[in-house]
Amino acid sequence: MKVLVLGAGQLARMMALASKPLNIEVRAYDVGSDQVVDPLSPSVTFGDLDAGIAFADSITAEFEHISHEVLDRCEDSGKLFPSSQSIKTGGDRRLEKSLLEQANVKNATHHVVATKAEFDNALKHLKLPLILKSALAGYDGKGQWRLKDISQADAIWKEVDTFIKEDTSAQQQAVVIEQMVPFDREVSMVGVRDKNGETKSYPLTENHHTNGVLSVSLATGAHANLQAQASEAFDKIANALDYVGVLAIEFFQVGESLLVNEIAPRVHNSGHWTQQGADTCQFENHMRAVSQLPLGSTALVRPTAMINVLGTDSVPNSILSIPSVTMHWYGKSKRAGRKMGHINVSGSDRVELLQRLQQVVSLLPENDFPEVNDYVSQLK
Ligand code: ATP
Ligand code: MG
Repeated sequence: MKVLVLGAGQLARMMALASKPLNIEVRAYDVGSDQVVDPLSPSVTFGDLDAGIAFADSITAEFEHISHEVLDRCEDSGKLFPSSQSIKTGGDRRLEKSLLEQANVKNATHHVVATKAEFDNALKHLKLPLILKSALAGYDGKGQWRLKDISQADAIWKEVDTFIKEDTSAQQQAVVIEQMVPFDREVSMVGVRDKNGETKSYPLTENHHTNGVLSVSLATGAHANLQAQASEAFDKIANALDYVGVLAIEFFQVGESLLVNEIAPRVHNSGHWTQQGADTCQFENHMRAVSQLPLGSTALVRPTAMINVLGTDSVPNSILSIPSVTMHWYGKSKRAGRKMGHINVSGSDRVELLQRLQQVVSLLPENDFPEVNDYVSQLK
């Protein structure tokens, strides 16, 4: 089996690492350089996109912000999984919101806005506080504004209007305005669907964000009461898209109910814990799905947490002396805030996991891991 991944970052790299034992050969298409590369040694190149399409039995993607021209060329080959429509939906909040409405999945009350009249109308119908998000090209909290008091409306509209007008996307830019959800907690779930329509869901993951970027994920098998709701939302969304592969869903938990925040049509940062905590990790299951192999079990085998390494290329080696700690570097050069790697920590139960997690974070420098110690300290 040969798979081409659109995108040559850490997700393609981890797909390639998980594929080796299955004898699946992976190449990655770097959209920036327009070159097909080895995802484990990106300086090794194999030609342009056409060469990559010809090489592959299946084509998949590691991110959703890919030009429609590239997606359409891959779709025309008949090899693209998930479909271009699924990937486009993940890359455009307007399509994403209408999918959620059509699939009858609960999400935040919202309006789509591109003009001042639409903005004024949205303010009439929505309850403050609000969050405005760019329809296209948003990630890690970028392209977002928060409107807490009506006195901010004019100034925010000025910024949004300029943002929309100056946007250079091939599609028309807009913003989605949503009501802020007073959530108790943010959780996410990764699931996988194969070409026959079989689905499997991983246990829900609790997520902590620092400055709008995921910093810690925790999967302990808690929240059994919410798991059925999350799996049902996954099935509705994945079936509506006739989805093939791994898909992630971010939720807001409000009391005992889950609202979908957004979806990602790919393996996801909040699913990295599955490498040490699940029977089959998300990367392997994604490759199995797109290669028409039977899906692996998604059962939790041991409670596991993931800590993102952001903007630094070293952590104290002493963390590796703690049992069940694994280090995953992405081989990238250092840049402020960049996702450089992650640390997985496991325990035989939640208590042991939290003890080890506390040991690990006590060794991590606060400068490089802001707030992580505070978050972990309050976990029970
Ligand atoms: P990422 O790529 O990191 O997932 P993103 O840029 O795609 O982020 P969102 O996930 O939509 O954007 O928003 C980032 C964060 O902002 C959320 O994780 C949540 O903490 C907060 N947020 C977003 N929308 C809402 C909302 N409607 N109510 C309350 N908080 C929200
Ligand atoms: Mg998000």
